[in-house]
Amino acid sequence: MRKPFVAGNWKMNKTVEEASKLITELMPMLEPINSVERVLCPPYSSLMVISAMLEGTPLALGAQNMHWEASGAFTGELSPAMVKEFCQYVILGHSERRAYFSETDEIVNKKVKAAFEIGLMPIVCIGETLEENESGKTADVVGRQVREGFKGVALPDPEKLIVAYEPIWAIGTGKAASGEDANAIVGLYIRTVLSEVFGADAAQAIRILYGGSVKAANAAEFFNQPEIDGALVGGASLKADDFTGIVKAAA
Ligand code: PEP
Repeated sequence: MRKPFVAGNWKMNKTVEEASKLITELMPMLEPINSVERVLCPPYSSLMVISAMLEGTPLALGAQNMHWEASGAFTGELSPAMVKEFCQYVILGHSERRAYFSETDEIVNKKVKAAFEIGLMPIVCIGETLEENESGKTADVVGRQVREGFKGVALPDPEKLIVAYEPIWAIGTGKAASGEDANAIVGLYIRTVLSEVFGADAAQAIRILYGGSVKAANAAEFFNQPEIDGALVGGASLKADDFTGIVKAAA
């Protein structure tokens, strides 16, 4: 049994004051929903304050990115150890990082290895563009992202790896994939390739999330699918009621 998992990616939203306010609202709403793993991924600037607020609660904290090197001349970056000071999780290879900051599968691969080495649990994002989808390339694209992203990765425990299938055309557009289509891609193309890379038993234990315009109103459509184990949520994670509605649907 794979435990349901819902993570909120706040992206570049909320000052420390705003972030603290949202966490104060979310804590009593999310804390009782223990059958779901609940992870909040605010901007770097709020990690220190929020990690103190979440201490002793069942809610986990994630960063939205990190560098793979341990230290050095990488202006503007955070190392794995710096992220580990505050977080249990780290989002890697988000499509916005790939599109706007030139992250390749090779870079994602280095970051995944660095995350496991330091003891962080990566939430690795994969997904195809609209053009790739419409030209029938989804299987090739997500297959390549899994093979290249996890090449040579020593998986410490399959429960410590989270994969998020996020079709790029569904992110922030209000046009989610259908539950059935997402389930087919996750089962046929993603879990199958994970099985080639890590073995069948590990692939069965790895949580695979859907992401892309998930809201409280459509969340159940994804969570009712046998291959989908939760959601990575962008826009709807910025309001306490909306995010809690999604976590409740997962429960
Ligand atoms: C995301 O950016 O990971 C995401 C899924 O965004 P949204 O929920 O806003 O589509």
